[in-house]
Amino acid sequence: MKYLLVMPAAGSGQRFGDAQPKQYARLLGRTVIEWALAPFLADPRCAHAIVVIAAGDTAWSGVAARLAADRLGTAIGGAERSESVRRGLAALESRARPEDWVLIHDAARPCLDPHDLERLLAAVSAQGSGGLLAARAADTLKLSADGGAPAAAQTVDRSQLWRALTPQMFRFGALCAALDAAHAAGRLPTDEAQALEWRGERPLLVEGAATNLKLTAGEDLTLAAAILKARAPASGEGTMRIGSGIDVHAFGPGDHLMLGGVRVPHTAAVVAHSDGDVVLHALCDALLGAAGLGDIGQHFADSDPRWKGADSRQFVTAVLGMLRERGLRVVNADLTVLAQAPRIAPHREAIRRAVAALLGLPGDCVNVKATTTEGLGFLGRAEGVAAQAVVLLREG
Ligand code: MG
Repeated sequence: MKYLLVMPAAGSGQRFGDAQPKQYARLLGRTVIEWALAPFLADPRCAHAIVVIAAGDTAWSGVAARLAADRLGTAIGGAERSESVRRGLAALESRARPEDWVLIHDAARPCLDPHDLERLLAAVSAQGSGGLLAARAADTLKLSADGGAPAAAQTVDRSQLWRALTPQMFRFGALCAALDAAHAAGRLPTDEAQALEWRGERPLLVEGAATNLKLTAGEDLTLAAAILKARAPASGEGTMRIGSGIDVHAFGPGDHLMLGGVRVPHTAAVVAHSDGDVVLHALCDALLGAAGLGDIGQHFADSDPRWKGADSRQFVTAVLGMLRERGLRVVNADLTVLAQAPRIAPHREAIRRAVAALLGLPGDCVNVKATTTEGLGFLGRAEGVAAQAVVLLREG
């Protein structure tokens, strides 16, 4: 089976208490919406997903660039949730047949358990019409006499009451027709299932975990982080990422090299736009590579006058900032310098300490090796110097 996804994310999240909409709040190194999308982007049955953003949304493009998913598109939402969902469905029209399944999932629900998604897909596709994840009302429920509090209370029988969650899952044609009918009648359903109920349908309740929270208050982020951490292996928290980098510079006139931020005396210097530190350039490439962020030239162009003669340690510091934003930290780095001359051995410990300090790591998490090329090639003829770096990053 395949299915489509619409994720309404056009809400301003004013209840969340800060300026940024709640779907863009940081949660364990990602945005909330990235967590909300994760189970779907990891599922090959999800053929295409439309995220419905607000007009003037400035945060989504950064998230989309990070996700780099070709199954992901966007639509611009309306004032109400149901209008945003309608526009998301319209954006899928060319890809969908009326009998195709479409799932609607809240951008502010980052804790959907992939097992619950599996149960919904299985139960609803077997039953044939439509359905939703829902959780039993666990607390004793009270009816307020005037709708507010304090007010006279009365206990409600909760035995038949469930809380509607998402995802909700319907046939594409049926959902479009139900939302169009509600729109034409000027009615605003509070969830998609309600629009189908108004058409006389009875969507299937599929029991889902109460941990599938909808974030409404800042404190919910702490709870969501705890839920995701407890599910670490499935959610990708703690995933390791490896990266490698290589850099080469030719020798020219001068009297020293910079290697790992350490000044190494030599009968030549490197020809470079910046300080030409091959160790730190290879390290930056390895860090960027592990994070899926391209290479050093894309971020610090060697045609940019800002980097003329630059201390390459600032490149590493800037790259570490990008990693931090993505919740990635460095576990270790293994560095190799390739040069016939100068001799690296006397400087190895200083380079190791300097790089470890730059990365904020204990000394034994950085290793520096050196090799000649046995007189072979441009390195062997002492025409330049090269370095290779391998790093490991951890998410979370
Ligand atoms: Mg370089």
